[in-house]
Amino acid sequence: MNKKLLLIISISVLIIVSIIFYTANLGDDREVSRLTDKINDIIVVLDAGHGGEDGGAVSSSGVIEADINLKITLKLKDIMNLNGFHTVMTREDSNDLSDKSLNSISERKKSDMYKRLDIYNSDVHNVAISIHQNIFPAVSCKGSQVFYATRVSTGKDLADNITNSIVSNLQKDNQRISKPTTGSIFLLDNAQIPAVIVECGFLSNDDEVITLCDKEYQKKFSYCIFKGFMNTKF
Ligand SMILES: [Zn+2]
Repeated sequence: MNKKLLLIISISVLIIVSIIFYTANLGDDREVSRLTDKINDIIVVLDAGHGGEDGGAVSSSGVIEADINLKITLKLKDIMNLNGFHTVMTREDSNDLSDKSLNSISERKKSDMYKRLDIYNSDVHNVAISIHQNIFPAVSCKGSQVFYATRVSTGKDLADNITNSIVSNLQKDNQRISKPTTGSIFLLDNAQIPAVIVECGFLSNDDEVITLCDKEYQKKFSYCIFKGFMNTKF
């Protein structure tokens, strides 16, 4: 009788353990297949703002926005590629995309923006992340802020997730929330895909300039953007 009971208990335990294992593995499989779907479904357009004759903002110590933008964008590209994502860079060096045959700076700048927009909208599977640095007369202003395109609703999710990731990991005191563009940012206003601009920090704040130039901080910041991207369902 005792042997029978022991056998029943043993079989029951075995069944329960098997169910737990099976369910846990199912969870893992679903996780893996979700990641594989994401890798297959998305092309990440990485856009380092400015470049060429347009350096963007400049700090009092002479740090040029276009350079910081490129450094952070290249680090983000590495993280994306290491995790299996296909990326397209709008620029990979200090040059911009402008048509050099045009006569005026404003015409060349316009041609640069249209070429970037063409890359943004070149594939329905694109998700664009543009990297910039901020500047403001009040030098005490610091911290990042994310802006998003509103044509595709997931742009807001992406911006919110990137903001949350940056705030929780790097900038605990940052109270800024992500914002939609209001007709002032050409690329976001005309993007047909989920698109965000990450203003990483203020070049008008001397302390933040030092932080933004730090390679380790650039890596951490890029990873925060990646984490926000990973937390977004497209
Ligand atoms: Zn900029």
